[in-house]
Amino acid sequence: MRPEILFSLFKPVTSLKGVGPRIGKLIETVAGANIVDLCWHLPCGTIDRRYSPTIADAHTDTIATMVVNVLKHNKPSNKRLPYKIACSDDTGVMSLVFFHAHSDFLLKNLPEGETRVVSGKVERFGNELQITHPDHIGTLDELEDLKRIEPVYPLTAGLGLKPLGKAIESALDLLPELSEWIDPNLLKRQNWPTWRDALLQAHHPETDDDMAYTSPARMRLAYDELLANQVALALMRRSMKTIKGRTLKGDGHLRAKIERSLPFELTSSQRVSLGEIIEDMGAPSRMLRLLQGDVGSGKTIVALQAMMNVIETGAQAALMVPTEILARQHLATIEPLATAAGVKTLLLTGREKGKKRHAVLASLSDGTAKIVIGTHALFQKDVEFQDLGLAVIDEQHRFGVHQRLTLAGKGQGVDILVMTATPIPRTLMLTAYGDMDVSRLTEKPAGRLPVETRTIPVERIDEVIRAVGRSLQQGTKIYWVCPLVEESQKVDLAAAEDRFQQLQHIFGDRVGLVHGRMKGKDKDAAMEAFINGPVDLLIATTVIEVGVDVPAATIMVIEHSERFGLAQLHQLRGRIGRSDKSSTCLLIYSGPLTQTAHDRLAIMRDSDDGFRIAEEDLRLRGAGELLGTRQSGLPEARLADLAVHGDLLAIARDDATVFLNHDPNLDSERGQGVRTLLYLFNRDNAVLNLRSG
Ligand code: ADP
Ligand code: MG
Repeated sequence: MRPEILFSLFKPVTSLKGVGPRIGKLIETVAGANIVDLCWHLPCGTIDRRYSPTIADAHTDTIATMVVNVLKHNKPSNKRLPYKIACSDDTGVMSLVFFHAHSDFLLKNLPEGETRVVSGKVERFGNELQITHPDHIGTLDELEDLKRIEPVYPLTAGLGLKPLGKAIESALDLLPELSEWIDPNLLKRQNWPTWRDALLQAHHPETDDDMAYTSPARMRLAYDELLANQVALALMRRSMKTIKGRTLKGDGHLRAKIERSLPFELTSSQRVSLGEIIEDMGAPSRMLRLLQGDVGSGKTIVALQAMMNVIETGAQAALMVPTEILARQHLATIEPLATAAGVKTLLLTGREKGKKRHAVLASLSDGTAKIVIGTHALFQKDVEFQDLGLAVIDEQHRFGVHQRLTLAGKGQGVDILVMTATPIPRTLMLTAYGDMDVSRLTEKPAGRLPVETRTIPVERIDEVIRAVGRSLQQGTKIYWVCPLVEESQKVDLAAAEDRFQQLQHIFGDRVGLVHGRMKGKDKDAAMEAFINGPVDLLIATTVIEVGVDVPAATIMVIEHSERFGLAQLHQLRGRIGRSDKSSTCLLIYSGPLTQTAHDRLAIMRDSDDGFRIAEEDLRLRGAGELLGTRQSGLPEARLADLAVHGDLLAIARDDATVFLNHDPNLDSERGQGVRTLLYLFNRDNAVLNLRSG
């Protein structure tokens, strides 16, 4: 249960005075639903309102807070003209200017003959000094309150700075003093404020230094978030390990059969990783291992052999992937090999329904099927195994920690192997996978040629189309990728369809189209036509990003490449360069490019090394975006930015480890603080682990 001292922070924002349902909704989109979310919504800039000149002295184009006498309201005759209010002080006159004004409001707040404080940007219009739409209007009593540095917050359409700032101030009024969770020595060494002071300081910056991510207040808040995450991961790892695992030691007879039917030798990286996995599974504790390897490094076969080890002992294995296409493709790779070894493999996705689904479920529960490959459908309640020994989860960043636990719950002490093709920088490994052991595939299968990558402005698209035509004549298979960005799905889809029609017009039936809005069956048909059928030029949205394997494809054109992230571009490009023929990737861009987009494309041109690309990606855009936090199952990193706070992460991890060794059940005084910290960051599950474990 959440400690009482946090109750006030976990109330909805609408419980704050002045926050009604409308503003509440807007705050929810920009910050979150609860008061605590408002507290985490830190300023992104400041407005300095301390400058307080007389009218004669006022510099133009500057924010000023001025004391004026209201002389006269000049209500316009025509609604389209501005409403002007003449004001003065001892040194001169000026105007306050309002468009689409509500005269009631102005008459009430700026009554003629009274003295008022106004704050806003001073401008000159002709000879006249004026402030258009002052940000603040107040009485003389409020002068000192208004003459301050005002924090500026990230906003959303319909939500102004004023109501948001007010809501945040009322949220901050509710901040309790919490007992400290940070190691006192660290606190002292870093000269960090307490949690409450840190929040107050972060929301009331006075200088640019205060705004910096490296200010003591911001560092402390970032550390809090990282520590909560690390403690939670450590607790989860511990409870995963304390659930008794099983000893799964196969005799190797199936693995030998598979190896004999492979047309290639395993790379030494594959052998080493497989060795680590087999050893984990043979140990009495539970396996929780990440297999990390760049696109095309050959993870699938490692997974298959791991599954065979389990099946040799009589148990079953499940392979879970994020998309339908990928599930079918894995089935196409694995089933023939498995069948040749006498192992029955089945598919279970959202599309297996009715009788077919029933039959699949029956063979899983009676144990006749040994391998099941599937999507989220594997999580469903009625999916039962006779004896699930190993769960393999491919392209893990699409699934959350929670989901991997659900799958693991479908058996007793199920071993877990997670595979990711996104090379993750070391710093991030700790946040995302701090609860796992890691194997890495560091080499690619022999004979692979690097992909030649070129960047081409969209103005030269006709040349690209002609080059595509020449390659088609030579019998090459080609991907043509159109971006599909979530916010503008419709427009993007239309763009992809237009391109499809244009190219089909030129190249006829050799052109196909596949996108995420298509029905599963149609998608498969389109992919199948590309893999084995008449289609040689496949227009695709990013559905092909993950894992698709068509070795004959050696050219990829990516439109609007400037709109993709580095990791995504690398993933896409990994679809080609999968054979012994040389491959080419053409990155089409529309200028002008932002500096970041420019840097990204340059890195893609220069490097084929997923790990280097991942490091650069982190540097260019920060951690949250990189992992796609929502997909990764990480709680959103709101306070920590690993591009800046990366060093803190290692400290947090060590701190969490040492601390939990001393106080495994969080009983000490600091332990109580750490408990509060976990609840503060919504890691309630971690605390539950603690109780049961
Ligand atoms: P990924 O790591 O991206 O999932 P895959 O497992 O899909 O990579 O393998 C990519 C391609 O490389 C597949 O066509 C696979 O058959 C092939 N492959 C895997 N291991 C080897 C190897 N040791 N030698 C040659 N080809 C291999
Ligand atoms: Mg793969």
